[in-house]
Amino acid sequence: MEDTIFGKISRGDIPTEFLYEDDQCVVIRDIHPQAPTHVLIIPRKPIPRLVDAGADDQALLGHLLLVAGRVAEDLGVGDAFRLVINNGEGGGQTVFHLHLHILAGREMTEGQLTAGLN
Ligand code: AMP
Repeated sequence: MEDTIFGKISRGDIPTEFLYEDDQCVVIRDIHPQAPTHVLIIPRKPIPRLVDAGADDQALLGHLLLVAGRVAEDLGVGDAFRLVINNGEGGGQTVFHLHLHILAGREMTEGQLTAGLN
C-alpha cells in the first residue's frame, strides 16, 4: 500500500505531539477540528480501511476502542463523545490509513451525524 501522512506521523517521521502512544497506536489532535475536542487514534500498523482489517487484527481493533475510551476520559469528555470511522471515499475517508475520530464538546444530534466530517 502507499505510505500516508498517518504512516509518517505514527513512525515519527513528521514530528507531531502525541496525546497518547503505545506500541500499537498513537493519538494526535486533528489538524482541522470539527468539534472543540477532535482527536485521532491511529494504529501504527498501516491498515488502509476498516474493511481491510483481518482476523489477525482483532486484538488491535479491540485495543483501539479501549484506547478511545481511556483517552476520552483523560480529555475530560468520557461522558459525552462520538467515535467515528470513515470507510472508503464514499464514506468520507480522505486518509487511507485506518483511524478513529473522537469528537466531543458540541451537541451531537442525529442531524449532525456526518456534519463536518468529510
Ligand atoms: P478521514 O476523512 O476520516 O480520512 O479523516 C482524516 C482526518 O485527518 C481529517 O479530519 C483531517 O483534518 C485530519 N488530518 C489530515 N492531515 C492531518 C495532520 N497532518 N495532522 C492531523 N490531522 C490531520
